[in-house]
Parts: sequence; C-alpha cells; structure tokens
Amino acid sequence: MNINSKLPSVGTTIFTVMSRLATEHKAINLGQGFPDFPMSEELVALVNEAMKDNYNQYPPMPGWLPLREAIAEKIEFLYQAKVNPDTEITITPGGTYAIYSSLTAILNPGDEVIVFEPAYDSYIPNVEINGATAVKINLVFPDYKIDWDAVRRAVTSKTKAILINSPHNPTGSVISAKDIEQLRSIVKDTNIFIISDEVYEHLIFNNLPHQSILRYPDLLERSFVCFSFGKVYNCTGWKLGYCVAPAELTKEFRKVHQFNAFSCFTPTQVALTTFLKNKEAYLGLSSFMQEKKDYFKQLMLQTRFSMHESYGSYFICGSYERISDESDKELAIRITKEAGVATIPVSAFYHNGKDDKVLRFCFSKKKETLEMAVERLMKI
Ligand code: PMP
Ligand code: GLN
Repeated sequence: MNINSKLPSVGTTIFTVMSRLATEHKAINLGQGFPDFPMSEELVALVNEAMKDNYNQYPPMPGWLPLREAIAEKIEFLYQAKVNPDTEITITPGGTYAIYSSLTAILNPGDEVIVFEPAYDSYIPNVEINGATAVKINLVFPDYKIDWDAVRRAVTSKTKAILINSPHNPTGSVISAKDIEQLRSIVKDTNIFIISDEVYEHLIFNNLPHQSILRYPDLLERSFVCFSFGKVYNCTGWKLGYCVAPAELTKEFRKVHQFNAFSCFTPTQVALTTFLKNKEAYLGLSSFMQEKKDYFKQLMLQTRFSMHESYGSYFICGSYERISDESDKELAIRITKEAGVATIPVSAFYHNGKDDKVLRFCFSKKKETLEMAVERLMKI
C-alpha cells in the first residue's frame, strides 16, 4: 500500500529514542522530561475518591465545568484576566494536544507559522500536517533570546501565527516584558494569531514573573494559550491540559476537539477541581524546582560540562567543548551506553540538526538520582 506520508521526514521522537536507549542500557534517565519522585498523595486520593463516587462516564465535551470554573478563578488570581469558563476554556488530553488543535483550528494550506528553534519537537510537524509552512527563526545562542528584528523580517502576508514558548523547552530561557512589547508591536493591526505554550508557567526561577499572554488583553484576543496539568502537579502521565482562547477562537478549537478526543478522563478532572483551590500546591512549585536546578548545576561543576543558566522549565543545558568534538547526538548516545546517563541532544530541536554542541539535562529528579548521575558524568 502506498500511504504517501503527510510527514515524510518525521521519525520517532528523540524522547522515545533516548528513553528506549536508557532502558536498554539501564541508564539514569535525565533525557525525557518527567519527575522520578511521587506526585501529591492527596491528589491521588482525590482521584480514587472521584472514581468511587462514580465519576466514570463522559464529561461534557469542553471539560468538567467546575474544573473550568476553578481554572478561571486561578487565572483571575494569577494574571488578573477575566476568562469565561463556559466559552473560553477547553480541557484537553495534554498540552501537546492543545497546541495541535489550536494550529489545526486556524491553519489552511499555504499559511505560514513563525516558530523559534530550538523548538519543542511537535511544533513543526503540527504545522506541516495542516499543509502550512513553518518559518523557522533561530533563538540567539547562547542565551536563546528572540531576535525580534528577524521576526519582523520573517512576517509576510501569509503569516497566520507566531508560536511562542516560555519558560522554554529545551533551553530554560524565559520571555520578558520587553519581549511582549516587541510581540505586541509586530502583531498590532494584523491578523496574526499567537499560540502560546505555557506548560511551564509554574516552573520559573529567581522570582521572575511569568509573562503569560493571559496578562495582556490585546494579545489574548488573538491567542490560544496552552497549559498542562502534568507539569504543574508532577504527573506527566496524566496527559491532561487545557486551552484558553476567546470565544470565537474556542468555537473553532472545539470543532477540532469534538471529533478527535471529544473529552478527557473524568476522575482527574473532578479531583483537580478540588485540588486547584489549594494555591500553595502550585505557588510552591517554582522554589521547589529551583532548588533542584541549583543543586544540579552546583554538582555539575565537578564535571567537564559548562552549564548554561536555566530560568525556568524542567531543563538546563550544558556545553561540552572540554569533553569532545563529537556531535551532540553521538555524545548523547555514547554517554548513555558508557556512563549510564541519558540526556537529549539539543540539535534534535532544529529542523536542520543545527549542532551547537549542547546537551539538555532534566533536573526534575530526586536528589539521589541527580547525585548518582553526576557521579557518573564526572568520569566523562
Ligand atoms: N510543550 C512543551 C514545551 C513541553 O515540554 C511539553 C511537555 N512534554 C508539552 C508542551 C506537552 O505537555 P503534555 O504532556 O501535557 O502534552
Ligand atoms: N516534554 C517532554 C520533554 O521535553 C517529553 C514529552 C514527550 O515525551 N513527548 O522531554
């Protein structure tokens, strides 16, 4: 059979490749981004309770309404935005799905979407499967800041959307109020949509404010803002998230969603409705994760990696010019096999495999895991 692939150049994601290799070689997995410590017992108990209470049938297509109401309250508390839970919030099976559905809702063949590289690996295939073109702009190495002049030059009459991600995977960079000003001046008086991937909203360090698009009504009116509970509550396997977008945009978003997942797992939605009221559980996450980042960065001084700074996310990058001149993929594979530590080569986040000789490390791990990993990395 001839499938005539819609994504001919796409292989298996680097996260799966490296996690598989880690398992095969019994390596410590600092590659794929997931915590190795247990999630909140209280939240687990709330899910059990919801199942026992018989919340096991389809929830409404846009999501369990009390959860959407709790999200709207949280958004007002954090970002002073009034969002209508009925018409502007949709619960999704994860953040990736929310991003895909947003793009699918707006893209037509021939459209262009501005994407910054290194880019989370689903973005470009999500654009291309819709017949649109991803216009790639490199973040400026080594700080991975956005070059707004390059964005201005890249805008054409076909530009349908700009996709931003802060805190950023894989680099841990974050956008500032100045970036928001630049974005605002570029999209003003245009029909350009914004897709904002904010799955790491609560993983931002040094008391930096998260520059959510939700803070800016003039930007929100053209935006799909995507979130993930997996990242907020250390339960990446739950695959539950949501998309916030103005009613007109949400209407189109739900046309895509209703004939894809239709709805999401009910018990977690019921449980999260209660758990979201506990502000400490999400407000404390940044300092909890910053401690891990600082600890890991400090430990890594004993190795020959030169660590960059990370201002948010689960990730920190490290250059390895003092170790070898291998490609980042070669080195990532070699240290998984020889040292027993899996990482992610950052070139995997570039469509053309641009190799700045940087590896990404996930530090959302137990202290012992980080210590054991660094002990192994010292031998490299
Ligand atoms: N965007 C980025 C940048 C991510 O790192 C992740 C986490 N894997 C997601 C989106 C998606 O999260 P989810 O697992 O909820 O689909
Ligand atoms: N977001 C996670 C990461 O960057 C992985 C997600 C996935 O495996 N698809 O590591």
